[in-house]
Order: sequence, then C-alpha cells, then structure tokens
Amino acid sequence: MNDDLKALIRTIPDFPKPGIQFRDITTLLLDAGGFAQTIARMAAATLGPVDLIAGIEARGFIFAAALAAPLNAGVLLIRKDGKLPGATIAEDYALEYGEDRIVMHEDALVPGQRVLLVDDLIATGGTARAAVRLLRKAGAELRQAQFVIDLPELGGADALRAEKIQVDSLLS
Ligand code: IMP
Repeated sequence: MNDDLKALIRTIPDFPKPGIQFRDITTLLLDAGGFAQTIARMAAATLGPVDLIAGIEARGFIFAAALAAPLNAGVLLIRKDGKLPGATIAEDYALEYGEDRIVMHEDALVPGQRVLLVDDLIATGGTARAAVRLLRKAGAELRQAQFVIDLPELGGADALRAEKIQVDSLLS
C-alpha cells in the first residue's frame, strides 16, 4: 500500500537549487486512485473530530481542502505574508538563509476550536512549527499534524512532537 503511493511520488534532482532532491507530489495528484487513497488514509488517521483543517500554502491547501468533506470540517488557510485580504496575525521562522513569515486571518478561528494541521511534506519542520505557534497564538486546540511525506533525517517531525503534537505521515 505504502509502496503504491511511494511509486506515485517523483524525485526531481537539483530543484529548486543544486543538491536538493525535490519530492514532487504533482504525479500523485494526477493519479485518481492514488489521490483518493491518500485522502482516505489521512482521514482515517485523524485523531477525533476536528472543527478546522489548517493547510499551509500552497500544496497543503490541496490536501486540507480534500479532507474537509470526509472530516466534516472547515478549511483555514495559512499563507505567505501579503496574500490574505483581512487583518492577520503572523509568525516568522528561520530559513537556511534569512527568514520567512506565515500569516492567518486573526478571526479565522474561535479559541478552543479543534484544528488539524496539514501540509504535503515536513523537512526541517520550520514551517510547521511556525504554523503551530500561529494557531496556538490564535487559541486553537491543536493535537495533530499530518503530512503526506516526512523526511525523517531532517528531524522536523521529532521537533514537532517535542511541542506535544502527534505527527502522522503516509510516507517517509
Ligand atoms: P520545512 O519547513 O523545512 O519542514 O519544509 C517544509 C515546507 O517546504 C513545506 O511547506 C513543503 O511544501 C516545502 N518543501 C520542502 N521540501 C520539499 C520537497 O522536497 N517537496 C515538496 N515540498 C517541499
């Protein structure tokens, strides 16, 4: 089962920079059965009922949106700075060179709402950890993060677990 999904992920060498092996999920999305199975397995792995699924721009949106119907939840967008029209709250995080910022609408959730965090891939965990800080700052009850792919040697999933988040990934 895992091998079937893994075969649908393509590795592109030297993207976006020399030396990076980019795991490309566009080939998984193109496969009707593989995409359906991905969503069914993420839905089945979800801990308890959730009110909102928070997806991280941009590929996280695809999985968060597809999970909304089976989980009977709304979708909360976590975006790069400057893309959301309403008043936002922000979190900064470190990149290899420099910093980046993610934002969400400040009124996107009611404190105490149960939120599942979703993205396509976790590498160093910098992005997901910033999303956790952002959601908790807004008052979310956040117990779990799900990814299609974990790159475990980069330690991101373990860093998230240290923040008391259950981390589940379909492939590693
Ligand atoms: P991190 O912050 O180092 O964990 O990087 C994770 C973020 O970068 C996620 O939003 C991913 O979509 C993106 N990302 C990093 N590496 C890859 C990759 O190989 N394939 C697809 N997305 C990636």
